[in-house]
Amino acid sequence: MKKTLIEDIAQRLRIIPDLDREHSSSESVNLRKFPDPENWHDHVELDANEWPKRVERRYSLVPTTCFNCESACGMLAYVDKESGQVAKFEGNPHHPGSRGRNCAKGPATINQINDTERILYPLKRVGKRGEGGWERIYWDQALDEIAAKIRASLKTGAKDRVVYHVGRPGNEGYVERVLKAWGVDGHNSHTNICSAGARTGYSLWHKHDRPSPDHSNAKVILLTSSHLETGHYFNPHAQRILEGMMDGAKLIVIDPRLSNTAAMADHWLPTWPGSETALFLAWAKMILERGLYDREFVENWVNWEAWLEADYPDEPSTFERFIELLLEEYAEYTPEFAAAECRIPVEQVIEAGEAVAGAGSRLSTHVWRSAAIGNLGGWQVARTLHLLNVLTGSVGTEGGTSPNSWSKFSPELFDEPPAPDGWNELHFPPEYTLSHYEMSHILPHLVKDGRGTMDVYFTRVFNPVWTYPDGFSWIGMLEDEESVGCHVALTPTWNETAFFADYVLPMGHASERHDINSYATSAGKWVAFRQPVLREYARREGREVEFTREVNPGEVWEEDEFWNELSWRIDDGTMGIREHFMSPYREGERITVDEYYQYTFERVPGLPEAAAAEGLDALGYMRKHGAFLIEEATYSKHEQEGWPTPSGKQELYSPTMVEFGYPEHAIPHYRIRSHVHPDNLQGEDEYCLLPNFRLPQHIHSRSANAKWLVEIGHRNPIWIHPKDAAKLGVAEGDLLKIETEIGWFVDKVWVTEGIKPGVVGCSHHIGRWRRAQDQGNRFLSNEVSIEDVGDGRKRMRTVSGVGPWESDDPDTNRVWWRDGGVHQNITHAVQPDPISGAHCWLQKVRLSRPSADEKYGDIEVDTEKSFEYYKRWNQMAKQRETHPRGERRPLWMKRPLSPKKEHWFIPE
Ligand code: SF4
Repeated sequence: MKKTLIEDIAQRLRIIPDLDREHSSSESVNLRKFPDPENWHDHVELDANEWPKRVERRYSLVPTTCFNCESACGMLAYVDKESGQVAKFEGNPHHPGSRGRNCAKGPATINQINDTERILYPLKRVGKRGEGGWERIYWDQALDEIAAKIRASLKTGAKDRVVYHVGRPGNEGYVERVLKAWGVDGHNSHTNICSAGARTGYSLWHKHDRPSPDHSNAKVILLTSSHLETGHYFNPHAQRILEGMMDGAKLIVIDPRLSNTAAMADHWLPTWPGSETALFLAWAKMILERGLYDREFVENWVNWEAWLEADYPDEPSTFERFIELLLEEYAEYTPEFAAAECRIPVEQVIEAGEAVAGAGSRLSTHVWRSAAIGNLGGWQVARTLHLLNVLTGSVGTEGGTSPNSWSKFSPELFDEPPAPDGWNELHFPPEYTLSHYEMSHILPHLVKDGRGTMDVYFTRVFNPVWTYPDGFSWIGMLEDEESVGCHVALTPTWNETAFFADYVLPMGHASERHDINSYATSAGKWVAFRQPVLREYARREGREVEFTREVNPGEVWEEDEFWNELSWRIDDGTMGIREHFMSPYREGERITVDEYYQYTFERVPGLPEAAAAEGLDALGYMRKHGAFLIEEATYSKHEQEGWPTPSGKQELYSPTMVEFGYPEHAIPHYRIRSHVHPDNLQGEDEYCLLPNFRLPQHIHSRSANAKWLVEIGHRNPIWIHPKDAAKLGVAEGDLLKIETEIGWFVDKVWVTEGIKPGVVGCSHHIGRWRRAQDQGNRFLSNEVSIEDVGDGRKRMRTVSGVGPWESDDPDTNRVWWRDGGVHQNITHAVQPDPISGAHCWLQKVRLSRPSADEKYGDIEVDTEKSFEYYKRWNQMAKQRETHPRGERRPLWMKRPLSPKKEHWFIPE
């Protein structure tokens, strides 16, 4: 199509993207002025701060990757050659995922590394755990003491008492390998409060548990959440969604909240939370009725015959009959039914449904967090969303939606220790037979219930006291030395969980550590290298560095070298651990971190050849460029590989669900009403609290020390629709008391039509706190008092908000905001979905005006009530516990750090 004059001018002014461009995940746009990598060690530019004087600064540009969300966008650290320090971060245009662009959180890495309150040295607690006393120790002491505790635990033969609990992973297989070397089933993650609901829905179809939408080439982009602004994969997806839209794609956003993404959509469908499944089934029915399904794909790649055989054995096993029976099965899912469930106009259901039905093979879809992690039965949201891809034949196509594992590179490691010889029931309790990830959100309750304890518990870039629901139960567990023998917090910044540690060990930010990254942020497959930039700068300058902590601020280290060193010290020479940490290049000697990455990069397809073309080895190439494109696009892999399910097909019909005691969910249906379905609320007095949306400029709990980000966003008011505000008699800025199942909090009101009536919203991220004895994060944390008011009841009150302070950074004295928000998560009850195991984030709440003595930021929680409430939800899983053939869970499904096969069975 010819450009208009206005488009031409807009393009020249770069107000809009280049309409003439070819789509390519590797091509960088408008890079004529970007310095060539050949010159990255000697880049000269004028110092903007000196303007109007023309003062030149010399930089070494070192590529690394951002660590502030999962996307791992490319960044270039500008190392000032005069100071030898990083001056700023910009995007790396040669990174195939991010293509030179970052969101606000990328460049704000400079705030994190220059944070005047960061943890610079290893610390050991003084006094009781949680009291706030710390002493500085040396790495040697920390390593020796922690190694001794782990050794003692391993020598008991226990396989489940040394645990590594990760928040933001950011690497590929490194720690899993270490845990296997130790022989423990000790991997725990945050996934069950994040993506586990959606993963279950996708796994049931094809084992792959995440989607990878090809937004750039789509005709219709269907988002069940708000990815463009905040979710996975924020910046890489946002730029591709916009590319798709510039090429005419229609954007449909399903979200009860008018997110930034929804605001840009062609169709915003503010569905009632949990009703999305009904909507997708209505659209599936439209596709079937109108004959718009892709017969070739469905007939050949879906196990429809298995369904007929199981449920309709007397019917002819023909494709035509299958379609008729599926239509009968889905007869109830009319547009009117969906509209009533979703509480949106039926015209909207039909209009958006027609766009979806007409997308053909170019339907890119995504669900992350949001509905799939919000609702009881949320996993069905992902399962029915994928049904739309299956019916339109847009699975694995250009412009469609592929399994993420097709675009994700899995590194080959230099050594693979054997699988753990045990099963950790604190992570995978037997009643959660289909839980896709560790039941980490109920860990304190399982411990309280007498199901196990831990000798050594590592929390790594993980802050459950603040991020998780029911944080007071986490504090209770962490304070109890019988439950947790030793708590080691590995963290780049202070957090509420580290306050309750025995050791706080400072780990590097993005530019201070090594990691391999590869994520399905586009249709291609890439690998990237997060590297400690001052170490690479030292190498370029000809200086030898043995350990990364030698170049990082203070004694900040990185986990890779820490795990190697710790593992070596655990083994007293009798435990067989050291043999897994030997160099693959130097017989009989310990591996170095450089050798680890050298080994892996040498085995990346195509990388050694690309490196050789520049006269480099594979590691040298990655040090120089920071990223490598392995495959331009990864479409249609099923045509060679098939699908890794028991049937080898897409499983519309799941024999697994039948065998594990859920026959009513054999095929996708809307048979579970969310716990926040209007029928489950007490009339109009109860509301649904939507607490699981992000602010685009914040990280869960690692941005409270990033001054630029905090200045942009530092409050989390309650979003409330004007109709509800009028009903409750509240206006903008008034206080509301929000009562959950286990407590309450007091927050300010934001009256907005951007939220559905009957639903109130409160963003994640904000409401950080510290007590008088704690340190760190003063840009965003309130000082609070915590009081035990008896019978398991805890009360938190704000003592003071945010304010300026004197430091080496003049900006700390310029802090103008005073409001640090309210910590809502701590008042949330845990709600483990009995099938997926995922936490159901949405909360039933009652709203009222607070009494005179209840102030903004006040919080109260009854931990006895929270334990009883957990038991009610746990009972739902226990009632249906079924183990066909003695299997703890389906043998074909994924599990992080899988133990030996014999442990997948319940012991006789
Ligand atoms: S989307 Fe933003 S926070 Fe995430 S990796 Fe990219 S730049 Fe960093």
